[in-house]
This record gives sequence, structure tokens and C-alpha cells, in this order.
Amino acid sequence: MPSYRGRIAPSPTGFLHLGHARTFWVAHQRARVASGKLVFRNEDLDIHRCKPQFVAAMYDDLRWLGLDWDEGPDVGGLAGPYLQSQRREFYLAEWRKLRDAGVLYPCTCSRKDLERALQAPHEDDDEAPYPGTCREKLATARDWQSPDGVSWRFKVPGGQSIVFDDRCFGRQEFAAGTDFADFLVWRRDDVPSYQMAVVVDDAAMQITEVVRGADLLKSTARQLLLLEALGCPAPEYFHCPLLRDENNLRLAKRHDALSLRALREQGADPQELREKFAAEIDWHRGMLGP
Ligand code: GLU
Repeated sequence: MPSYRGRIAPSPTGFLHLGHARTFWVAHQRARVASGKLVFRNEDLDIHRCKPQFVAAMYDDLRWLGLDWDEGPDVGGLAGPYLQSQRREFYLAEWRKLRDAGVLYPCTCSRKDLERALQAPHEDDDEAPYPGTCREKLATARDWQSPDGVSWRFKVPGGQSIVFDDRCFGRQEFAAGTDFADFLVWRRDDVPSYQMAVVVDDAAMQITEVVRGADLLKSTARQLLLLEALGCPAPEYFHCPLLRDENNLRLAKRHDALSLRALREQGADPQELREKFAAEIDWHRGMLGP
């Protein structure tokens, strides 16, 4: 059995809120109980939304909460840069592999085309189902030396069922092609998609268990397909239940009042927060060993 390697992977697009704090605390606890390593990865690919003040705040706020990590941008490690903005060559190498494997195609649909094609709501997910308009370009993929100029999609094997055992939520099953469609791996602005970057990094950093919010359950199904296409072993998954506000909306970075920043300013006690998290979630579920 490889020894436990977990990760926390925030995006510095706003101040972290209570939901992030709880998820990262769970990730931290699980790594520590397993006597494993915890990797900190700064997911700063979106240059328009990531801001230096949020980078500084995420380190500072998580340390205030009592978290520490063994590898990361500020403490070094073995797996190369832990900032996604510095890992382009790794993503490009894997893009080439997928292109050669015949599972990617260039997509020239504009945002307008997509809006027109989509009527179904997709609120529970971060990516609208793509109707497959550009699939016919699959045969041309190998003519491309680099991904820039268009976006790139992964051809999802329709009808296949993707099953995994989540260590918190139990058995999960998604229907490829129905629950989600051909998803982006490279964006038109020449940046790898979230799905691509996370899969490449989790594999390169030899992550054995991914702890993250339940909003990403469906993304896990997509990522399992990508991992398979890249010939990488899949990690285990532990998705944390989402925190909701008084209107039952899931917390987002716009909830300034529940940001760790604001809570700190109001005199919150990190020890009390950690106790509250421990009472709210069974972070020990599915844990192997002592
Ligand atoms: N960076 C992502 C976020 O902040 C999390 C990615 C992941 O855990 O896979 O939402």
C-alpha cells in the first residue's frame, strides 16, 4: 500500500469561507491520522480571477485555523512547482498524450453557439452539457502541434457508467453522456481546464486520497475517465457535505460575512471552529488503519 498522500488545493479567487475551512480541516485531519503527507497546491490558473491578496490570505487564514502541510509552494517538496501557473509544461505533455490517443477534439463553438444549443438547466454542475457539435473534428486532432487557438474537449464514451466508492458518501454512479457530456480539457484562452490540471497534478503528486467538496462529485466521474485515458491510477475520494447559508444556498466566495477573514476580525476562536467541524462531519469515515 502506498503511504497516504492528501492535498489541499485552494484557488485564490476570493477569501476562503467556512465551507473551504471545513473541507481543508478534514483533509488535514485525514492526512495526520494516517501519518501521511499533506500537499498544498495553489490552483492559480485563472489569471483574471486570481489575485495576490487572496494568495496571501489563504496561507495566512489556514495557518490561523491551525493547519500545516508538508509540501507546497512555501515549503518546497519533491513534485516540482506546486503553483498551477508554473506547471504548464506538465499539462502540455499530457495534452499531447491525449491528442495522440484519439480522445480529444478541437472545438470552435462560440459561447453564443453553446447558449443557443443548451436549454436544459445545469445548476448542480460547473460545466454545461456540450451537444457534441465539433466531434466530427476528432480525426483532425493529430494535425495540431499545440492546443492554442481553439478549445479542446474530451470525447466522453456515451452509455458508459462511471462508478466509484466515495469514502464519505458511499457508492456513486454517473452515466457518461447523460449526466455529463464532452468536457473541456483546454480553454480557448490557452489555459488547461480545471479537470485537466487537477488530474495531471493529482497523478504527478502521487495523491492517494482527494478530499474536497461534494459539488465536485460529478467532476470526479469526468476525472476518472481522464485518469484512465492517461493510464494513471485513480486515487480514493472523500467528498465533504457542502455548507449552506440560511437560504439553503451553498456557500460561495461572495459570502463575505462567512469568510475566514471576517470571522477572524470578529474575534472567532480557531479551536472552537475546529470543534464545530469535528461535530458536523464524520471525518474519520472510511479511514483505514488504527
Ligand atoms: N481548486 C478547486 C477549488 O478551489 C478545488 C479543486 C479540487 O479539490 O479538486 O474549488
